[in-house]
Amino acid sequence: MTEYKGKAIVKGIATGKVFFYSKDTEAVRRIKVSDTEAEKERYAAAKEKALFQLDEIYKKALEEVGEENAAIFEVHQMLLSDDDFNDSVINVIDTEGVNAEYAVARTGDNLAEVFAAMEDEYFKARAADMKDITERVLNVLKGSESTNVPSEPVILIAEDLAPSETVQMDKNNLLAFVTRLGSSNSHTAILARNMDIPALIGVEISKDWNGKQAIIDGVRGVIIVDPDEATVMEYNKKIAKQTERKNLLNTLKGQEDVTLDGKHIKLYANIGGVGDVADVLKNDAKGIGLFRSEFLYLESDDFPTEEQQFEAYKKVAQLMAGKKVIIRTLDIGADKQVDYFNLDKEDNPALGYRAIRICLQQPEIFRTQLRALLRASAFGNIAIMYPMIISEDEVLKIKEISSSVKEELKAEGISFDENTEEGIMIETPAAAVISDKLAKLVDFFSIGTNDLTQYTLAADRQNAKLEAIADPHHEAVLRLIELVCKNAHEAGIWAGICGELGSDLELTERFMKMGVDELSVSSSRILPVRQKIRQSKAYS
Ligand code: PEP
Ligand code: MG
Repeated sequence: MTEYKGKAIVKGIATGKVFFYSKDTEAVRRIKVSDTEAEKERYAAAKEKALFQLDEIYKKALEEVGEENAAIFEVHQMLLSDDDFNDSVINVIDTEGVNAEYAVARTGDNLAEVFAAMEDEYFKARAADMKDITERVLNVLKGSESTNVPSEPVILIAEDLAPSETVQMDKNNLLAFVTRLGSSNSHTAILARNMDIPALIGVEISKDWNGKQAIIDGVRGVIIVDPDEATVMEYNKKIAKQTERKNLLNTLKGQEDVTLDGKHIKLYANIGGVGDVADVLKNDAKGIGLFRSEFLYLESDDFPTEEQQFEAYKKVAQLMAGKKVIIRTLDIGADKQVDYFNLDKEDNPALGYRAIRICLQQPEIFRTQLRALLRASAFGNIAIMYPMIISEDEVLKIKEISSSVKEELKAEGISFDENTEEGIMIETPAAAVISDKLAKLVDFFSIGTNDLTQYTLAADRQNAKLEAIADPHHEAVLRLIELVCKNAHEAGIWAGICGELGSDLELTERFMKMGVDELSVSSSRILPVRQKIRQSKAYS
């Protein structure tokens, strides 16, 4: 039994089998072979296995995310069955007398290039699919296909996880996360909080743990690999206590979010997609304060159409049955990269071309999303929120586009809620400092403390080495929050917090005193925050 230390980003305890997730980035080597027939047989078998896997994934996706989203796996099956792919692999093996891995990798690269060079946007986008299927066949050939996605509930150990990797995992199979890299405010950490599973970062992980039993103690910030019997028994008791506390918190369901001295707070939840709404309802949030719409883009292989987006927003609005649903327009860029956006590689992506900057420079993408959002507003209580604002000029441009989209919908006779609230995120120091001016232009503010902390303290939120420096408790961040609330109230609008700091119980009472009107937190934090609000005073 060995214990390894890390930093807990989601408290809680989990026990289970370790699954070592590896990206398998090892380059494919070109090896001369004498028996090309054997290589061709290896390829044929790998291809069959990959097709079988794709069929299984298709069926699972059909059940979980519907036909439209599952269709991509049919496309993958078609690409892999196609003669162009097969003939090329066989040809490379035969003519060059090389191993199957090299032939598959070369073929995949060549065909991906051909697709990428095509004029038609649909075919262009198939380049990424070609890379995907190539990777799948290579993984089978290398015998490492099972190292990519867990198929049973496991404790997932990884160097690091990108948001796009995390969203592809079956949430039911994740008991806990442990990574070597990453930081408390990274999007993967946020996803772990949303899923309410214990998570540790900064752990010196080892591949040797794969398949072993382990305990994650998200309170002490440790992982115990190969625990002895006495430790297992001790932790079983702790897990029973954890369940007891959850049950106690459950008694807060249906209670009001009001301080001891009568200040009412909007206690809302953060979500990444339709699939998260069940947890919002289960935890009795009174609305959704942040729907990170970019996850629709991250989960997709191409720009989600107006219709696809409309269906998703409408579904959330309907499920929330009249409760407020604040949907943030896409916040792509920085750590949330999507191939089909073809964004340039940047030296400082967090300070780069992202979020509203993309929307204002590529208005066709923005207009499609706004049409979908406004159309969905006819089916519930939707509000729209814009990320990464730094100036009044940006807000005026947004308002111009949004008005023109509304005119367009009217002209087409499409109904939408003309009173849809439009607010902005305050996540740059610039926006916080001029919040008196911005408040006159919008319906509400939502403070994104994750980015506000990174930009105020000049500390990259992705950088594990800066954990201690990127401290959202820094007086500068707290003063900006207070200033934003004051300026919001002077202009007669409300201000909330939707960054991770919103669920920091050490600050709940201080937020109440600052005049914060809304807290939007991970679903799993709703009841603890409710408990704290009900024990706090806002006016004395
Ligand atoms: C934030 O920056 O605090 C925020 C809520 O947005 P995100 O974490 O998605 O960048
Ligand atoms: Mg942000």
